[in-house]
This record gives sequence, structure tokens and C-alpha cells, in this order.
Amino acid sequence: MKKTLMCPVCSKKAILTTNIFESFYICPNCNWKSTNTDTLDISYKSNSSAPLSNLFPHKFIIDGILCLSMESFIQSLRVDNKEMQQAICSNYSGMMAYKLRLGLNDWRKEGYIYWNGKRIKRNSKDYTKLITKAYDCLFEQNIVFREILRSKKDYYLIHSMGCDNIDETLLTEEEYRFQLNRLKEKF
Ligand SMILES: [Zn+2]
Repeated sequence: MKKTLMCPVCSKKAILTTNIFESFYICPNCNWKSTNTDTLDISYKSNSSAPLSNLFPHKFIIDGILCLSMESFIQSLRVDNKEMQQAICSNYSGMMAYKLRLGLNDWRKEGYIYWNGKRIKRNSKDYTKLITKAYDCLFEQNIVFREILRSKKDYYLIHSMGCDNIDETLLTEEEYRFQLNRLKEKF
């Protein structure tokens, strides 16, 4: 768990606190705690939140390409070869795509990713648009994902496993939460 994350209530910094029983986040500004029952920390390892994880096998199609999960799509962005990219999206589930990543191109060196023959800067509006489009496809096409998100619409979503550094990850904690909260607004 990282030391701080953005408080889902007031957007100030919440701080990791550890006692002998557990670790949790607390916001000094508004007193929000990650252990509150209206907070959901999204993790593939948790039974209650796994179906909202990018690793969960919710299928969707983007630009004609079947993706077995959001993680399959995101990891495939490392690959410039269209055929191989498509094979990763369509054949490797989230956890497998995640495990493949170290054998794929390290996008961090140049800061570019690839989609469908296009080279896109990681840190750009075009990248945000592409990720937004993928989450829209998932939301519109996959009733299971959509209904589970609906069932959690009154929860504060956090992702304590998430990375904050845009130069290190293809989806920061903030980007991830932004997408889920944006979709929740549609209900
Ligand atoms: Zn707060």
C-alpha cells in the first residue's frame, strides 16, 4: 500500500496509518477513513471489488478488436505490431496480459504507446481519449460490468495498489478512478 492517496471525499491527501490490527488511510482534512463501509478499495484479490478490477475478464470490442479484459487492452498498448497487439487483446486474459508485460516493449523509455497502427504519446490528450473510449466500450457493451458498477455507485472508490507516476504506469490511480467515477455519473 502506498503512503498517501487522494481522499475520495475532499480530494486532499489521505495518509496511510498502521496499527497492530490493520493498515488504512485517513484524511486529516475531512476524517474520511478507507475502512468506512461506504469505501471500496478496488483489488483483484478482494471478492467484493474484483469485478471492477481491470484484471477481471469483462469482454468488450474496441475498433473492431475483441479485448478479453481492460488489462488485456492496456498491456497490448506496448506492442507496435498490430497482429501481435490483437493477439494479446483477444487471447490473453487480464492476469496473463499483466504477466506478459515484462516480455513486451518498455514504453517508459520513449514515452509512447501504440494502438491499431498509431503511435501515441503516453502523456497526451490523445492517450486520455483512447483510454476513455475503451472504458466507454466496456461500459456500453458489457452488461455485467455495468450492473456491478451500478450496484457500487454510492461507494467511494479507491485503488490503494495504484501507482501515481504517469511516467511509470499506463493508468495511474487518479486516471483509473476518474474513469470509473465518470461512468458512475451515467446512472
Ligand atoms: Zn478528505
